[in-house]
Amino acid sequence: NRVPMVAGNWKMNGDRSLVSQFSNELKTQQLSCTVVICPPSIYLPLFSNHDFSLGGQNVSHLDNGAHTGELSVAMLKDAGCSHVIVGHSERRESQHESSELVAKKAAQAIEQGLVPIVCVGEPLSVREQQTVEAFIGDQIKALTDLLSVEALKRCVIAYEPIWAIGTGKTATPQQAQEVHAFIRQTLNENAQGVGDSISLLYGGSVKADNAKELFSQPDVDGGLIGGASLKLEDFIAICQAAN
Ligand code: 13P
Repeated sequence: NRVPMVAGNWKMNGDRSLVSQFSNELKTQQLSCTVVICPPSIYLPLFSNHDFSLGGQNVSHLDNGAHTGELSVAMLKDAGCSHVIVGHSERRESQHESSELVAKKAAQAIEQGLVPIVCVGEPLSVREQQTVEAFIGDQIKALTDLLSVEALKRCVIAYEPIWAIGTGKTATPQQAQEVHAFIRQTLNENAQGVGDSISLLYGGSVKADNAKELFSQPDVDGGLIGGASLKLEDFIAICQAAN
């Protein structure tokens, strides 16, 4: 009974007119998946009359105070969010976010009532060295070390192999399934069966024409979509593939 989810990560893209187009034309009543749009945070309050959920792309692990440029969980909620992406590989890389910091952000989100979409994923070198499970296992361990079983149950985890992000090079459905099954098993072993209950999304060059096959894998519950979430028609087709 895991609810399928498709989340669009606009990254540093989009503008007011894209916000209007999605608000007006992305209607999700006929879909049986949860749909989340994660625009640049400055656009969050501009969505209106939309029937999908909103998410931030990042959040501070702190409550408030002298932290220039940061946003708190309370602010994201105030702006209409129910979800927040944490630990995207682009931030792990460019902002040097460690798995421990990412776990703190997830904990803060859950404590204050947002669903964190926690991203994990290996670089190409790790895949080539065939050490994917050790690498992903460490990223998951940081989460299970800090979060209670109850808190973990409220997380969504997105597996995004870095070599597949924005490259047009999608993981094969089998590669995605293998890692998803590993994540589920690791969570089951380290956190009292949590793996069976949480949604695992795949991300990395998901398009309208490959979504169905990826989402039909037994341990893939939906997707985290970058480039294809910026085109309404493509994004709707991907959401339909998760039904
Ligand atoms: P692309 O779909 O553009 O490969 O991006 C995936 C991603 O990073 C979503 O968070």
